[in-house]
Parts: sequence; structure tokens; C-alpha cells
Amino acid sequence: MVFLTEGLSVNKGHLKINGCDAVDLAHEFGTPLYVMNENAIRNRCVEYKKSIEDYCGGSGKGKIIYASKAFSCLEIYRIMRDEGLGIDVVSEGELYTALKANFPARDIHFHGNNKTFNELFMAVKNNVGRIVLDNFCELKMLEKICSEYGKKIDIAMRIKPGVSAHTHEFIRTGQIDSKFGFAIETGEAMRAIKYIGQIDQINLKELHCHIGSQIFDVEPFVLAAQVMMDFISSIRSEIGITIKELNLGGGFGIAYTKNDNPPSCEDYMKFISKAIREKARDFNLPMPYLYLEPGRSIVGEAGVTLYTVGAIKEIPNIRTWVSIDGGMCDNPRYALYRSDYTALIANKVEKDNDFKVTIAGKCCESGDLIQENAWIPKPKPGDIMAIISTGAYNYSMASNYNRIPKPAVVMLKDGKARLIVKRQTLDDLLKNDL
Ligand SMILES: *Cc1c(COP(=O)(O)O)cnc(C)c1O
Repeated sequence: MVFLTEGLSVNKGHLKINGCDAVDLAHEFGTPLYVMNENAIRNRCVEYKKSIEDYCGGSGKGKIIYASKAFSCLEIYRIMRDEGLGIDVVSEGELYTALKANFPARDIHFHGNNKTFNELFMAVKNNVGRIVLDNFCELKMLEKICSEYGKKIDIAMRIKPGVSAHTHEFIRTGQIDSKFGFAIETGEAMRAIKYIGQIDQINLKELHCHIGSQIFDVEPFVLAAQVMMDFISSIRSEIGITIKELNLGGGFGIAYTKNDNPPSCEDYMKFISKAIREKARDFNLPMPYLYLEPGRSIVGEAGVTLYTVGAIKEIPNIRTWVSIDGGMCDNPRYALYRSDYTALIANKVEKDNDFKVTIAGKCCESGDLIQENAWIPKPKPGDIMAIISTGAYNYSMASNYNRIPKPAVVMLKDGKARLIVKRQTLDDLLKNDL
């Protein structure tokens, strides 16, 4: 049996996505095509919200913040607004898009290790709920903006908890060597908190950490939660203030292949909330308001990319190259990280996966691959290839390398398809050329 994520099924040998025939979608909207399943996205939002209700003492005890760098466009902000989630943005482009989608500014967290003066100004001017302070240089700029414009702002502060995790490995080290946030060990974080305490216009409400991405273990999150609670306790002892909001970031893993078995958000939340509760009890601290910032795990499995198979080259005893009509320009993740993906032939899903191929893109780079050693039914030109779990960090990482227009994005809801991002035209590519 082929690996299928939520909302995928097989009917008469064709792949169906949320009730829509993938081959029909490819013909109607063209390829390459990003297909997103709105029902699956909303189901993840509901699960995350429920995990806050079940494990944090009710829905008023925390909030899920969608890390929108995973997939950003007007429609996803509208969906997140409708679901009552907050969002993270990391640039003025993401902030602008969110505001244009009428996303409530108070529910926006603004991240980044090198926010520009203009970005900070835009965030302050629009009353963004939290600026997540990353460094002293930014603190100085914020102080200037707030006093010049007579604004008071609430901020979060990004801390390096000394836990670093990626997929199946994590390390507990000094981890002060990161471009993100303030270190605890060096005294840098405490120094910043003392400094903020003297600025009337800047109110530190929340401590934040983010330990990595595509993490399959609960343990690194538990460790990070403990380190952060210890630090909240130290801040109270040293400065006498109690930070009441804790943000543990994102990084929850998803399934790209049948070998991936990530915990559910309930599993994560159960253990994370337990660790926080125990620390709160030990230190006699209030249970903090909890934020989580999932990106990939909200949209990742809800996406499928459809391509048309073109040139096929069989090199005897070496490999078979199958080229598709997209590549690293719409999905750079294999080129960047050797990421695993599952490939299907959408018009012959019932056939045996007995043919080993290397799937290559059409860009002029030999590293332009989508997957190596993928097992699929024997392909031929004109077949529709589906790559599963491409909802996160694909469209948002797409480029116009080789002047290839970015694909369209189609959203599927209750068996109906609607275009949410148009395909770029050749003239779009010339728009800024003088
Ligand atoms: C990238 C990022 C996230 C989301 O990570 P995922 O792995 O997509 O869940 C959350 N918070 C911060 C600060 C990030 O940089």
C-alpha cells in the first residue's frame, strides 16, 4: 500500500486529494501545482487548540501561534484568523501580507534576528501584539521608536535555552553559539531584562525559545520547558518580577514518508504541560500562559505538489532519471537538506512501486533533485507525479531561478477546489525589470 496522508485516497487508480481527482486538478490548473487541503489544515488547528484546553487548564490558558514562514499568502492568514490562532511573522513582507488579510495585529508575533528599523517601526505603528526581542541592537532601536512616537509596547524575549534538536537527535549543550536570541549562561539575558525594566515604554511579557524543526521526540521540548521555568524563577529571585507567559516555539515533526512516525500534538502537549506544571509547583510560580508556534505541523502534510513527467533517461546499471516540470525552484528542500519525500504517480497509484528512479527538476543545477532512490510505478512522459507533504517550506521557499514562474496554489475544501495564488506569468517576471 502506498503512503497516504490525511485526505488522500485512491479511486480507480487515481490519487484523490480531499475528494478531487489529482489528474483532473493537474489538467484544470496546470503543473507544477501546489495543492493544499483546507480541511486538513483546519483539523490541525482544532487539534492544537484542543490540546491547550485539555492540558493547560482551559482555552484561556494558552494560544497557538501559526509560524507563517511555513506557508504564507493572504488566504492562509484568513484561515488562521477564522480558526482563532495567532501568527508569527519574520519580515515586513509577511507582516504586510497578514495585515492586508485583516489579521488582528494584537495576535501577531514579530520574530527575526536582524529586524530592520523599518520593520520595527512598521510593527510598532501597527500595534503588533508582540515583538520578539532578539538582541541589544534591536532593543536600542525599539527604545528610540517608542520614545519618538510615544508608544508603549509589549514584547517577548528570545532566549537560547541550550537545547538544540533536529529530527531524531538533540543535544543539551551550552548552545550559546546561535544567531538567535539571548544566552542565559553568559548573563546576557538577565542583563537585557534588567535594562528593559528601566524603560517605561517597553513591557516584557513573555519569554520565548525555539529549539529546532522536524523534531520527533518530546524530550527536548520538556528539557527546554524546564530550562525556561528555571530561568523564570531566577528572574524572580534576582529582579523580583514574575514573567507570566512562556512560548516554547515550534518544531513539531510531520510524516514525509511511511517511516516517519511523529507524536501527535496531544502527546507533545501532555508531557510539556506536565513539566511546566511540576516546575511551577516546585518554584511556587503561577502556571504560565503557554504559547506554541507550530508551522510545518499545521500545513506540511496538507500539501501535495503535482508535476508532469517529462524526459526519462535510463542509464543501464546506474540509474533512471525522471525529470519533472518543476524542481528546486518550487521545492528546494532536497537540494538544501536532502529531505525525504514520497513520490506517487497520480494516474497509476494502484500499480506496484517496483521501479527505482531519481527525480530531477528542470533547473540548470545538477543538485536540482526532488528525491533519489524513489520507488514508483514505471513512469512515462505525461504522467502526473505527486509529491506528498509539501505544504510547508515549499511555496514559501520558491524562487524564480532560471526565470521559471512560481506555480499556482489551489486550496481544496469539502471536495471543491479554488485558486488562492495565481501562477506567475512570464510578464510577472519582467515586472521590476527596467
Ligand atoms: C521556524 C520557526 C517556527 C516554526 O517551526 P516549525 O518547525 O515549522 O514548526 C516557530 N518559531 C520560530 C521562532 C521559528 O523560527
